[in-house]
Amino acid sequence: MFRKTFEGNEVVFVIRDVIEVRIPRKVYEKYSRRYSDEEIITYCEHKNIYNHITKRRMYYITKESGIPLIGHTAFGLIDRGTNLIQVRPCSGCNLNCIFCSVDEGISKTRVTDYMIDPDYILEEFEKLAEFKRRHCKGVKIEAHIDGQGEPFIYPYMVDLIKRLKDIADIVSVQTNGTLLDEKKISELEGYLDRINLSINSLDGKKAKLLAGRADYDIDHVKSIAKEIADSEIDLLIAPVWVPKYNDGDIMEILEFGKRIGAGRIWKPFGVQKYIKYRFGRHPKGAKIISFRDFYSRLREIDRNLILSPRDFGIVKCRSLPKRFKIGERVKLRLEMHGRIKGEMIGIARDRVIQVTATNKKIGEVVNVRITRNQHNIYVATPV
Ligand code: SF4
Repeated sequence: MFRKTFEGNEVVFVIRDVIEVRIPRKVYEKYSRRYSDEEIITYCEHKNIYNHITKRRMYYITKESGIPLIGHTAFGLIDRGTNLIQVRPCSGCNLNCIFCSVDEGISKTRVTDYMIDPDYILEEFEKLAEFKRRHCKGVKIEAHIDGQGEPFIYPYMVDLIKRLKDIADIVSVQTNGTLLDEKKISELEGYLDRINLSINSLDGKKAKLLAGRADYDIDHVKSIAKEIADSEIDLLIAPVWVPKYNDGDIMEILEFGKRIGAGRIWKPFGVQKYIKYRFGRHPKGAKIISFRDFYSRLREIDRNLILSPRDFGIVKCRSLPKRFKIGERVKLRLEMHGRIKGEMIGIARDRVIQVTATNKKIGEVVNVRITRNQHNIYVATPV
């Protein structure tokens, strides 16, 4: 499951096409006299781990690492007070969409990726699902795999989905579809209930432009869409409408979706509004429209394009208790680099906390003030 190459003074292992482990050649040569490559990859302390796709430093988070899985938007579990739990097993994307809200793929702003060991995320998911079932009798628990990136770069995705289905009532995933094939779709039948597939244009040239990659193949994604629609997995097509870029394409995408039979169980489309985020990408000349305009345009096309949580069986369900109040001063130890330069991640009271605007290093203890605690996602600034 791994490739090995020698690059300069390093030995490079690429595991399952995404986890890149680099070990100094001298260290490798010493260890290789007594240990197998698998043992060296697992136990060598002198290794550096990267995301092979994005080329960023990557943390592989296991239970033993002691990093909690609640508190951050880039990895772990997110509980927004409903019966749906967002599952984020990794960050990182194989595309480079010009409108990406999290500047994913090859990025100017993102400096770190995270990946969670499947056993660990499943164990934590089960605890959260149990909490929800205890407090909201009779609700269906949905595990929704999404994230800051493309979930199918996660090398244990099929295993994760199958095991999530043992715990949750519904398992759904968001994907750009590029890494799916016929075999994977048929393997996931019976386990995965819905795929939210992003398609932003059916025109080959424009689709490449929007995806930010010359090798993006819309014909492959279209054939994947048909394959899903013909399978037991429900298909929801989710284009991002970027005014001035793909205005005319949205209607074509809707017609395509209807033709292939998207949305047999849930709604067939989830048109998303392009939003200009501070750390996202902004395509030149894209028009920003208000939510009011956006919804009224959708209504003009088809009232069914306006979605509500009810359409997906999403109901309110007690959240995990918050561990910090806004304004609270907390002393914490910095454990990992943050997603963006100048950010670090600290741990306290079984939560991860994103510390912004800091030049402190890993291992340092800092005093911070909590500035965000919504949905148990914590952001703090140094005091
Ligand atoms: S597929 Fe999604 S996460 Fe990846 S670059 Fe495009 S918008 Fe961003």
